[in-house]
Amino acid sequence: MRIVALTFHDVVPGGRNGASDNDAFYCIKAGEFESLLSQLRKLGYQTVSSRQFRVWQEQGASLPERPVALTFDDGYASHFECVVPLLLRYHFSGTFFIATDLVGRPGYMTWEQLRKLVFLGMEIGSHGMSHQPLTSLSKSQLHEELSESRRLLQEQLGVSIHAIAAPGGFWNRAVAEAVQQAGYEAAWVSTIGTNGEETNPLALRRIVVRRPFSAQRVVSMVEGWQPAFWWAANQQYAIRVLKRALGVYRYEQLKRLLVPNA
Ligand SMILES: [Zn+2]
Repeated sequence: MRIVALTFHDVVPGGRNGASDNDAFYCIKAGEFESLLSQLRKLGYQTVSSRQFRVWQEQGASLPERPVALTFDDGYASHFECVVPLLLRYHFSGTFFIATDLVGRPGYMTWEQLRKLVFLGMEIGSHGMSHQPLTSLSKSQLHEELSESRRLLQEQLGVSIHAIAAPGGFWNRAVAEAVQQAGYEAAWVSTIGTNGEETNPLALRRIVVRRPFSAQRVVSMVEGWQPAFWWAANQQYAIRVLKRALGVYRYEQLKRLLVPNA
């Protein structure tokens, strides 16, 4: 069994841009998102949480016949207003990775809204505190980001936090070790691929859904159609090469230049 995890950022009605200045690449429309959910539903997919996936990996617990993981990064207000109602309409659930410093800021969910997500059966994970790339932090900052975000989420939401998603997908071995020490059982990155029993739980793969969006192509990947993976992997590879060549800061600057906030 292979599990595909999809990652979404801001999901907005119509054509307006999202809360964040630099995420126009990653912002998709509610109509596009709904058509994807509707196709997954028709094909018989059922959502699994990070926790369910890990229990399956470790203890061989059963999973739905056609599992898919839907993950949402950054805690945008649109996740509460738009994503969760659509998930419920199609009998799906999602995993929401929250950067705690962003909670309550304009365009992002509040603690109250996050508590409602928990009540509605959604899974919450950490996305660090400040949303800085974990690879750019000192050892003590890294420890602080990992432990403090987890502590705060647990305290505010009254649930156990088992999973983290790396801000910006920036990841290395030192980060993986620190994540494990901080008590997480799963770390989700943005390496294209599927997840199986043998996949390292500290580097679980996700497919970031971004512009140009095609529900067909995303569904093809969930279905395990290889050429769609190659297409996505090439796009991802180009981004990784750019990030490595330019460094995190200049990469973000270039992204802002290429996709100015409309
Ligand atoms: Zn993020």
